[in-house]
Amino acid sequence: DELPEEGETLSTEDARLLEELERERSRLLSIQETRKLLPVYQYREPLLKAIRDNQVLIIVGETGSGKTTQLPQYLIEDGYTAGGKYQIGVTQPRRVAATSVATRVSDEMEVILGQEVGYSIRFEDKTTSGKTLLKYMTDGMLLREFLTDRNLTKYSCIMIDEAHERTLATDILLGLIKDILPKRKDLKLLISSATMNSKRFSEFFNDCPIFTVPGRRFPVDIHYTLQPEANYIQAAITTIFQIHTTQKLPGDILVFLTGQEEIESMRENLEEISQKLGSRIKQLLITPIYANLPQEQQSNIFQKTPKDCRKIVLATNIAETSLTIDGIKYVIDPGFVKENSYVPSSNITQLLTVPCSKASVDQRAGRAGRVGPGKCFRLFTKWSYNNELEMMPKPEIVRTNLSHTILLLLSLGVKDLLNFPFLDKPSIPSFTKSLENLYILGALNNKGDITKLGEMMCEFPCEPEFGKVLYSSAIDERCNGTLSECLTIVSMLHETMSLFIGKKKEALSSIMSEVESDHLFYLEIYNQWKGVGYSRTWCQDHKIQFKTLLRVKNIRNQLFNCCKKLGLIDKDKEALESRSNDKEKNSRITKCFISGFATNVAKLGPTGYRTTGKSTGGLSISIHPSSIVFQNYKEKAMKPYKAILYQQLMLTSKEYIRDCIPVPEESWLTEMMPHVFK
Ligand code: ADP
Ligand code: MG
Repeated sequence: DELPEEGETLSTEDARLLEELERERSRLLSIQETRKLLPVYQYREPLLKAIRDNQVLIIVGETGSGKTTQLPQYLIEDGYTAGGKYQIGVTQPRRVAATSVATRVSDEMEVILGQEVGYSIRFEDKTTSGKTLLKYMTDGMLLREFLTDRNLTKYSCIMIDEAHERTLATDILLGLIKDILPKRKDLKLLISSATMNSKRFSEFFNDCPIFTVPGRRFPVDIHYTLQPEANYIQAAITTIFQIHTTQKLPGDILVFLTGQEEIESMRENLEEISQKLGSRIKQLLITPIYANLPQEQQSNIFQKTPKDCRKIVLATNIAETSLTIDGIKYVIDPGFVKENSYVPSSNITQLLTVPCSKASVDQRAGRAGRVGPGKCFRLFTKWSYNNELEMMPKPEIVRTNLSHTILLLLSLGVKDLLNFPFLDKPSIPSFTKSLENLYILGALNNKGDITKLGEMMCEFPCEPEFGKVLYSSAIDERCNGTLSECLTIVSMLHETMSLFIGKKKEALSSIMSEVESDHLFYLEIYNQWKGVGYSRTWCQDHKIQFKTLLRVKNIRNQLFNCCKKLGLIDKDKEALESRSNDKEKNSRITKCFISGFATNVAKLGPTGYRTTGKSTGGLSISIHPSSIVFQNYKEKAMKPYKAILYQQLMLTSKEYIRDCIPVPEESWLTEMMPHVFK
């Protein structure tokens, strides 16, 4: 209504605004039209009827048919939120999916994200209480909600989306919800899944009905390599340029890679090559997508491909079923995925690159056939497809450390763990090891009951080990008075993957010269940043991601509030007052971490560092070159410490430990954790 009347000349600013409004209007119109074109739209009525008639319903449909974005809207339209009395909750295995889908749906409903439609992921709650009707969240977040609301009373419908992914949190959710269904007769449970595995879910819920949304899928030509590829990255790059130079436009390419490092290095590689080729080839628009990609860049994959240009999406298996990118005509699939693998006897979790299952590579190929006939280039042999690949991926619950989950279940009052309704039961050694880990942490007593400390650890929105560190830093007389420092370090450790713009070493030399551990380096970064008023320029000057530090600040706030609620802040203050000199502070910080991560200690032996598993005799490991400790040994020729505590163990070509803090006196280990080290 501020716009000038007819006849007046528009100022450039007004003209720009008007143009933008027009564009927005036509965009919204087309959004509404696209909604009606999605396969689920035709089944709106029968779907709503099936939901009315059944408490539990499995919904199966091709990826991109509209399950995630449309179904929850139909539920709102059908009155399930009772004018704001109830919420509809939709879980996603991945944070990126939860945020991106919530954004899309708020657009479709023409509301502001965070109001009627919101999302909730760890450390970030974009919902408004009393207003949000539809909440997308990670499965882990809904799991945590059980702690405060055992019967999920604020929800009228729960949709467990992407259930075929079988993440640990999804599996546990299904068991817990199965348990409350008889008590909450009015609660609807929808389980949606891509076209695999749906029978299992139906059997689990007393043979509940399966509603299949027939999808449309164009034929996809599958091509294999004749010989196994020694270097699939190189092979993928060659294939990209072959497609680009021989196939006509439009037709975007989706490449499945295993993680951030692979994706970023391929992006650089592609940009370099296409720069060299210059105007000899049509333009490429390269868009990566992976979990740690800064949120503001994530939406790039959805932008429309400009004319005379080809979009190349470099994705992790997040694009396998969770996200649908329109316009893909070619899929390049090396056939690998990164997967957790936990061995109870050594208590070590490895992130391994393993061959995908048949079900996965078939899903991936399907991504090429959404807009028209497509092609999929598999960078492995047909023989390998037929003879080497597993049928289905292994559910996470059988290949992961269960300690955290078991602690959560215990604090929810689930006593009989072995008889919990698991879709797939974890192995006995895996149970036993988890209980042992929890006992070491002090979360369980020797009868296997959860302790006060254990309950407290559950309150923290982070791993119980970190909860223990914070607890010790405020309460434990051997190391308290360090809560403020530990809060900062713990928060920083959650975001180290995207902290530095260049190499960590460059930031190190520009921030300080002397520091003995990664932990204290992170602390120093945060404190200096705080000292200059959380300045953006300071970050630029020191090659540190400003946005990441903002997230750290937010995480720290949340953990601080949690400590406050638990009374830790006051305890820490008391401890600080009783300590007159502060010389020992760094030692005490180290001791706090020992109290939480006693199982992550490597000791120096005649052949270098080895982990300290009781049952294994230790795995030989190296300190990652990015670690401050490595740099100190190498450049300052410092004498190696007897023991090192690490936050991460990565098994790649070599076994590396990352984010390390030296333990100068071995006696600290026995002092803090006698039941482990004596
Ligand atoms: P399903 O859950 O059945 O796989 P979705 O509901 O995710 O299907 O997708 C339906 C449509 O919405 C697809 O065409 C997809 O491209 C589109 N879509 C989903 N998320 C976004 C987004 N963030 N931006 C643009 N389009 C999106
Ligand atoms: Mg979906």
